[in-house]
Amino acid sequence: MANVVQGIHALAGAVLLALASPALAQDLAVVGARVYPAPDVAPINDATVWIRDGRIAAVGPRGSIKVPDGVRVIDGRGTSVTAGFWNSHVHLTSPPFLDPDERPAQALNDALRERFTRWGFTTLFDISSLPGDVRALRARIERDEVVGPQLLTVDMPFFPEHGTPIYVRELWQRTKTPSGEVATAEQARARAAAQLEAGADGVKLFTGAIVGPPQGVLPMSREIARAAVDEAHAHGKPAFAHPTDQAGLEVALDSGVDVLVHAAPDAGEWSPAFVERLKSEDVAFVPTLTLFESELRRENAPESVVKRFVGSAQQQLGAMARGGGQILFGTDAGYIEIYDTRAEYRLMAGAGLDWRQILASLTTAPAQRFGQSKVRGRLEEGYAGDLVVLGTDPQRASDAYADVRMTVRGGEVIHDARAPVAPPASADD
Ligand SMILES: [Zn+2]
Repeated sequence: MANVVQGIHALAGAVLLALASPALAQDLAVVGARVYPAPDVAPINDATVWIRDGRIAAVGPRGSIKVPDGVRVIDGRGTSVTAGFWNSHVHLTSPPFLDPDERPAQALNDALRERFTRWGFTTLFDISSLPGDVRALRARIERDEVVGPQLLTVDMPFFPEHGTPIYVRELWQRTKTPSGEVATAEQARARAAAQLEAGADGVKLFTGAIVGPPQGVLPMSREIARAAVDEAHAHGKPAFAHPTDQAGLEVALDSGVDVLVHAAPDAGEWSPAFVERLKSEDVAFVPTLTLFESELRRENAPESVVKRFVGSAQQQLGAMARGGGQILFGTDAGYIEIYDTRAEYRLMAGAGLDWRQILASLTTAPAQRFGQSKVRGRLEEGYAGDLVVLGTDPQRASDAYADVRMTVRGGEVIHDARAPVAPPASADD
C-alpha cells in the first residue's frame, strides 16, 4: 500500500514538475478572466494579467494589453483572478516538514502543494515550529530545489516558565526539542535576538498558555513578554501573541504585540470600545475560526457549546470587521490537520464579512502588516507575479476563494488543478 501511495505521489509530482519547469523559463498571461486587482477597487471584466520576469507587467481590459508572442497564455474565460493568498497562521510541524534538509525535494513539493498551494497560498506565515526547520525549507525553495510559497516564520515560540502548552508537550519530547520556556526577561531578550539574527521573521509569545488542570491557563509575565516584543521591534519585526483568555489579552496588549493569532472566545464579547483599543494600538487579528469548531467537535462537545464558543469567536471577528480593525486570514493549519479552507470562509462570512473584507484578509492586509505592501497583495504593474485563478466568482459564493484552479508564484505555476493532487499523508507516515 505504501508503495502504491508513494508511486501516486511520484506521478503527481512528475506532472507538477512538468507543468512548473517550463513556467520558470516562460512569461505568462491569464487572458479573459474577471480580474480583482485588490479589494478596494472594482473588478475588471474580460481582463488580462501579464507576468514578465516574475513581476506583473500589465493588468487591464483584454483589448488594452498586447501580450507578446512566446508568452504562455492561460485561457481565463469563466474564471476570476486575484492576488496570491497569505495564510498568516500555519505550522510546518507535520511529519513531512520535520528535518527538511533530509527529505527528497519531491516529497516536500507534494506536501506543500497538497496542504497549502492547492488552496491558493503563495505566502505562509509559520507561527512557531521546531528550531531551524522552516528556515531550512525556505532556503531550499529559494534555491529552486523545492517548489513552494514564500515562507515566513517565527521559528521557536516563547512559553511562560512551567507553561509549555499541554498539546505540544508530546511533539517537543518526541523531537527532543530544547525547552521553549523562558524564566526571565533577559532570557527572553537573548533568545529573541538569537532567533531574529538567524533569520526569524518575528516572535511568538504564549501570553496565555493552556497548561491543563489545575492551573488551566497560565499567563506570561508582562516583563518577559515586553522584553521579547521590544527585541522583535528593535529588529523591525512583528510580535505575535496567543492570548487564550482576557488575562492573556491584557498581557499581549500591555507588552505591545502586533498580532493576536487567535480569537479569544473565553474572553467574551468584544465591544466597539475594545476594538477601538486594538486599532489605536495597531493590533491585527487572526480569527482561526475552524480551529475552535474542529477542536470542540473532536472533543464531542454538545452542539450548544460549539455554537456558543464559535459564536463568541465570530462575534469578535464581526466586531473587528465593523470597527475597521485589521483582519488577517489564518487557519492554524498544521496544528489542526485541516487544510481545506472552505469552512473558514463560511465561518468568516457567517460573522458578517463580505467578499472584499475576506479578500483583504488574504491579500492587502497581511502584505501591509508584514511590510510587503509595495510588492505583494495587489495585482498591479510592478508587483510580484503571485496570483490565484478561481473557478467561482468571489461575489457569488462565500467559499469561492477555496475553488482554486491555479496558483502562480512569481510567474511560476506552483499548483494546477488539472494535475492530480495526492492526499496529505497520514500523521504517522
Ligand atoms: Zn497555531
